[in-house]
Amino acid sequence: MRLANADGRAAFLVDGRVHDLAELSGGALPSDPMAVVADHWEEARAWWARGTTGDGVAADVVHLRAPVPRPGAVFAVGINYRGHARETGAEVPELPAIFTKYQQSINGPCGDVVGPAGEDTVDYEAELAFVIGKAGRHIAESDALDHVAGYMAAQDISCRRVQRAAGNQFSMGKSYDSFCPLGPAIVSLDELPDPLDLAISCRVSGELLQDARTSDLIRNVPELIAFLSSVLTLQPGDVCLTGTPAGVGVARTPQRFLRDGDVIETEIEGVGRLRNRCVSC
Ligand code: ZN
Repeated sequence: MRLANADGRAAFLVDGRVHDLAELSGGALPSDPMAVVADHWEEARAWWARGTTGDGVAADVVHLRAPVPRPGAVFAVGINYRGHARETGAEVPELPAIFTKYQQSINGPCGDVVGPAGEDTVDYEAELAFVIGKAGRHIAESDALDHVAGYMAAQDISCRRVQRAAGNQFSMGKSYDSFCPLGPAIVSLDELPDPLDLAISCRVSGELLQDARTSDLIRNVPELIAFLSSVLTLQPGDVCLTGTPAGVGVARTPQRFLRDGDVIETEIEGVGRLRNRCVSC
């Protein structure tokens, strides 16, 4: 299943067209994408299996928003690809380095990224994000993928100056409004060739700057779910960004930060692509 948020309404995304889920189901399913993720996921999958009817609407003429607009938690992971650990000179931590991106930072797959005035160290980080579909505590790695509703492409946009100036606390530098583009849809794992090995890339204004595979993650999705759920109960709709591969702007020579007018294209194999323009970056 590919569940998108078409201008605030839950919709199936099929070949670049959106099909309104409430209409398709004759009102059996809610229009709120968050309610579908949290309470009606399996019913939605059953409707997906029946196939869509009608033409739908071209996705580029509706405003696609974040498929999970109001998650209870947005976790993110620092230093989770070896290439990124090397380029930043960071040690791989003993436990996953979890921080949060606050809900206010959530942005859609085509939304503008708004750089804060006067900041010239705004950076891109292409990431695979997973969405929890089934609640759980103390989830075993072997059961972890059963708790995942699906994947999204994500950007962990980061103001490096604010991130670094706060010591070991990253969250504010990564939580400016618009700093967490997600989408284009929540893609269930049965749509993917191998959920643990997908190509991930980031282009900025056409230049390929990150190019890796999620099989290079130091802690892949099952291990992250086992760790997170050893601490707290994961709830349906919770989102986790799994870390970024090598190639971020701050670690390049010369450094390459985002500028006004840059277009960030973030792509995950089988999941889809985000296209976000930078405004006053
Ligand atoms: Zn990140």
